[in-house]
Amino acid sequence: MSNPTRFPSSPSAWRPATTLVHGGTTRSLHGETAEALFLTSGFVYDSAEQAEATFAGTARHYQYSRFGNPTVAMLEERLAALEGAEACRATASGMAAVNAALLAHLKTGDRVVASRALFGSCHWIVSTLLPRYGIATEFVDGADLDQWRAALRRPAQLVLLETPSNPMLEIVDLRAVATLAHEAGAIVVVDNVFATPLLQRPLQFGADVVVYSCTKHIDGQGRVLGGAVLGSRKWIDEVLQPFIRNTGPSLSAFNAWLLLKGLETLALRLDAGCRNAAALAGFLAERPEVARVWYPTRDDHPQAELARAQMADGGTLVTFEVAGGKAAAFRMLNGLRLIVVSNNLGDSKSLATHPATTTHMRIGAEERARLGITDGVVRLSVGLEDPADLQEDLAAALGALSLGSGQRRAAGL
Ligand SMILES: *Cc1c(COP(=O)(O)O)cnc(C)c1O
Repeated sequence: MSNPTRFPSSPSAWRPATTLVHGGTTRSLHGETAEALFLTSGFVYDSAEQAEATFAGTARHYQYSRFGNPTVAMLEERLAALEGAEACRATASGMAAVNAALLAHLKTGDRVVASRALFGSCHWIVSTLLPRYGIATEFVDGADLDQWRAALRRPAQLVLLETPSNPMLEIVDLRAVATLAHEAGAIVVVDNVFATPLLQRPLQFGADVVVYSCTKHIDGQGRVLGGAVLGSRKWIDEVLQPFIRNTGPSLSAFNAWLLLKGLETLALRLDAGCRNAAALAGFLAERPEVARVWYPTRDDHPQAELARAQMADGGTLVTFEVAGGKAAAFRMLNGLRLIVVSNNLGDSKSLATHPATTTHMRIGAEERARLGITDGVVRLSVGLEDPADLQEDLAAALGALSLGSGQRRAAGL
């Protein structure tokens, strides 16, 4: 028994929609319908002998919620079943998941190759934190296989990438990069937040570890932070679990309970969100105020074919460039009445942000230029509102860009 603190067993034959509702569920002696919330830090033993056996690993009993908790374990089992992964550990945030996966695996003298288009804090860990501990890091353009090939000609221990990327929705060829990485001796860690476990399962393409910010679509209602790391039973138990157990990025049982409830509706929300996003991408592409639209599975996306091969649908994010740079982008954002300005994503409410001055401000103008994040770029996280209302909101805000300042004032914009 490799890990005595994880009890629920995952029924692997269920299809995703069923797994989302039932996966990993265990019931207490009261037989409750909804998942029980075990809001407890510690656990009681029947005897000193049971405590001894538990610590020796010969008895199955929860010990302490930093190591494992019944509500958190239900979430972990549900996510593992959904991903087709052998094991999962949940963490307090997406960044705790990324950080734990990296620091648990790496040591001084190791080498990391990462795609340049990473979530801001992931970029900071790779570019700033890891080198402090004597870990060499190299960034490549994720869509350019020649750059991956060149960087992985030398031995490496870990590859980190995100696909689709934030905010330009660039696609990385998972199978090709996994092959190159394994030849170099590296494990592949994929930040799968934008795709979610329903639209893309990186393990099927050769990735070794998948990380999530559960804060995004898995909660899906903008309530709590959470994260998850998924991989083989051996890697999770032997590499990740000692790190989590001893450093404490553990998820609270309350947040795990909310995330379990979030998962129950993930398929329905994602379906509606993807439909709305694809419709809005089509609408935006026709607008004269919009210079360009990015949506992974649209024909005009440069990697549409690869996106369709890896993803079941295009996702809930649409990125577009407002003609006229920062001033026009800001006027458009300030003209929105329904869609709110927020740097979060994956919410049931539609959220828009200006990456160059918010999420990607810290990486600097040079790096933004390399990633194609111009001052006109707006990232839209499409929610569950009626698509006609979203479209009217965008139409009004974009339409106002061509009005003179007097007309805008008269229209209250
Ligand atoms: C939000 C996000 C993270 C970080 O997750 P938190 O839950 O905010 O810590 C990491 N990667 C991606 C792609 C994200 O969108």
